[in-house]
Amino acid sequence: MAKAKITIVGAGNVGATTAHIAAGRKLGDIVLIDIVKGLAEGKALDMAEAGPVQGYSGSITGTTDWSKTQGSDIVVITSGLARKPGMSRDDLLAKNVQIVKEVSQNVVKFCPEAIVIVVSNPLDAMVYTAAKVTGFAKNRILGMAGVLDAARFCCFVSMELGVSSEDIRGILMGGHGDDMVPLPRFTTVAGVPITELLDGAAIARLVERARKGGIEIVDLLGSSAYYAPAAGVVKMAEAIINDSKALMPCSVFCQKEYSVGGYFVGVPAILGSSGVEKVVELKLNTDERAEFEKSVSHVKELAAKVDQLL
Ligand code: NAD
Repeated sequence: MAKAKITIVGAGNVGATTAHIAAGRKLGDIVLIDIVKGLAEGKALDMAEAGPVQGYSGSITGTTDWSKTQGSDIVVITSGLARKPGMSRDDLLAKNVQIVKEVSQNVVKFCPEAIVIVVSNPLDAMVYTAAKVTGFAKNRILGMAGVLDAARFCCFVSMELGVSSEDIRGILMGGHGDDMVPLPRFTTVAGVPITELLDGAAIARLVERARKGGIEIVDLLGSSAYYAPAAGVVKMAEAIINDSKALMPCSVFCQKEYSVGGYFVGVPAILGSSGVEKVVELKLNTDERAEFEKSVSHVKELAAKVDQLL
């Protein structure tokens, strides 16, 4: 890809942090767009002014005007309400469907060639919304959640074992909800499965903490997380821009894969210049399979609600 153009929709916590990390990694020219006048413009200018100090020089534009997004290679959708204490991600569905619908219509109009990474919650239902409204090929629509949720699990493993988090790799499946499925058998410390290093009770405790990782931050902050989510988005965008064929868990369209039957759910996927290039099918054991199916059935329920609202 020549120099990439990346549009980030929503200049709030996740959107602005994504723009800042992407600028630092010199991913391309960035357009930050929001409906609140001055918000994206102010944050983009502030980030551009950090360039001479941090050593990046790509253009960062803040705007409320969709025409500035024309020709984007990647559009990241972070617009929408975020959780407050006491709320589940599902509580956001009715409002965020309308926001993601409107944004997706603008994506079709102004960025018809883009690959779309959805972040707004409830994640898998919002990816489904963007796919339905844009009608884009399924390889060009994906959602960020698995990279974040797996990173949380890996972070908790590193804290438990007192080892560098850089050495820990993990994969996680299912929807972005409390029934997500961390996979200890496929989580390793420098290649050693954690099932060799931790007992069952410790692993169960870390799995539970990862599942509740989002609400742990909401309860501390009063609003939802953004540093780790933004890092997750940039990792996905980077794999697409660099055509790196990196494997990571993302919410992607699965038809025959894992017998999902035509929904967006979190599975291991290979990302490259055409977006989602391949879904990797792991041989799940009976328990893993049952947990995955439970999580997928929840995603299907939310998709049915989206169908009623669109
Ligand atoms: P935020 O409130 O800080 O920012 C949201 C921004 O979207 C606001 O600036 C708002 O003005 C803007 N917006 C609303 N409607 C818009 C529209 N039509 N066009 C353009 N901009 C619009 O919220 P946040 O903390 O950045 O979270 C954003 C979303 O991401 C939430 O839905 C949150 O639940 C979700 N999220 C998902 C994950 C994940 O893992 N997938 C992680 C964290 C947050």
